Amino acid sequence: MNWIKTLNSPDLLLDACSINKDQASYQVFNPYTNKALCSVANLSVEQIKHSISAAQTAQPEWAKKSATERAERLMSWFDKVIAAKDDLAKIMTLEQGKPLQESAGEVEYGASFIKWFAEEGKRTYGKHIPAPKNGQQIVTIKQPVGVAAAITPWNFPIAMITRKAAPALAAGCAFIARPASQTPLSALAIAELAYQAGIPKSLFQVVTSDDAKAIGKLFTSHPSIKKISFTGSTQVGQQLMAQAAEQMQKVSLELGGNAPFVVFDDADLDAAVKGAIACKFRNAGQTCICANRFYVHDNIYEAFVQKFIDQVAELTIGDGSQEKVDIGPLINEQALDAAEEKVNTAVKHGAKLKLGGQRDTDHPQCFAATVLTEVAHDNPIMTDEIFAPIAPICRFNDPDEIIDWCNDTQYGLASYFYSRDINKIWKVAQALEYGMVGINEGLISNPVAPFGGVKHSGIGREGGSEGIEEYLETKYLCFGGLG
Ligand code: ADP
Repeated sequence: MNWIKTLNSPDLLLDACSINKDQASYQVFNPYTNKALCSVANLSVEQIKHSISAAQTAQPEWAKKSATERAERLMSWFDKVIAAKDDLAKIMTLEQGKPLQESAGEVEYGASFIKWFAEEGKRTYGKHIPAPKNGQQIVTIKQPVGVAAAITPWNFPIAMITRKAAPALAAGCAFIARPASQTPLSALAIAELAYQAGIPKSLFQVVTSDDAKAIGKLFTSHPSIKKISFTGSTQVGQQLMAQAAEQMQKVSLELGGNAPFVVFDDADLDAAVKGAIACKFRNAGQTCICANRFYVHDNIYEAFVQKFIDQVAELTIGDGSQEKVDIGPLINEQALDAAEEKVNTAVKHGAKLKLGGQRDTDHPQCFAATVLTEVAHDNPIMTDEIFAPIAPICRFNDPDEIIDWCNDTQYGLASYFYSRDINKIWKVAQALEYGMVGINEGLISNPVAPFGGVKHSGIGREGGSEGIEEYLETKYLCFGGLG
């Protein structure tokens, strides 16, 4: 708890981490040191039912406020998040492990959704539709769905909440989030800032519990919850969607990915290497849009691999809270074991291990930056979602076949390719069965564009003008008997 007092604003967490002795709690750990940071409330299903009732009571009042007033509160929240950037980054690195500069980047990225949706909330336009008969007028209006709930993952502890909470609140909904049990502190801290900005406590709630399954069941079976938004694995997303059918809840699912990263032989090689490293190693490879498998054209394969390995070897591994660290710890032991297992299996299937391949000797909670070459397209590592700093590289020759290889997966979240041929760019971009395509760009996330996947990567979009639609219903008004 002492570290909380060293924050510029300890009040971000003091209340949430001062658990009264009658309240069940669970500990939150630093994944780099494996030491406990503090405890948070382990709320029961009954307690969360009370939270849902309070949210339902608060929602109509909030929906009655003008869009401008809601936008002002959201803008005040945005300002407070930015002002607290250093504290929030510190909290995030402690509980999640990512390097401090990446945490600071996530605070800004997370805040950018609050600003974006503060504005978008003012533009939830309906339509006037030409009527088929005289004497009628047809109009549509947009209304908030009511109470929305979210279940979020540990890899982006702030951004995965703000990109759901901000559109929900801007639309006039109440919002309840259950953050991943590994990373509740960032979520609690940003909720505290929302309250300081005048967003009512019962309207926006962060409920902490280490029983994900029970909370998933509660959210999807509760008649007051009209919308469920989930980011996480495809398997859990499928379960939640099936459960949500019972109450006919609206669902948004942002699920697993298996992003291909293709380098054609006309690509700018230096730009491709730079993009590949940013895309693969951010957050130690623990993002759903990370490049999962690299395909490099035979004509430039050797040159790309050499440059890539030289630059990957320069990445610094260690404690994310220290300066100049590029790759922090993986989230837990299971993630480390799974990474090791994936490399071993890939090698058994013919891949050549060129760099890394195991836990880092000096930093045992970190996995070494790993490069595998001569990986066949059908090697198991090309089909699994890796979630670790491992880059498998495959050669290709045929520019038509490569599109089939890219699409040869149940996933369809992000994809990337590098080329300078405009005809090829257009053809490949259209043919890729993915929700998002980075063209000569390895970092594609921002608040202005619709983020989301096709196939088993999910349903719905977050960000852009689409993101707020997920929290709105369209109502059609038919005025008859008009003169
Ligand atoms: P990962 O942990 O690999 O990101 P998960 O889908 O397991 O992916 O977890 C994403 C979020 O879903 C986390 O907050 C986790 O606690 C939660 N979760 C896991 N299993 C369930 C479940 N059966 N029902 C509801 N939420 C779940």
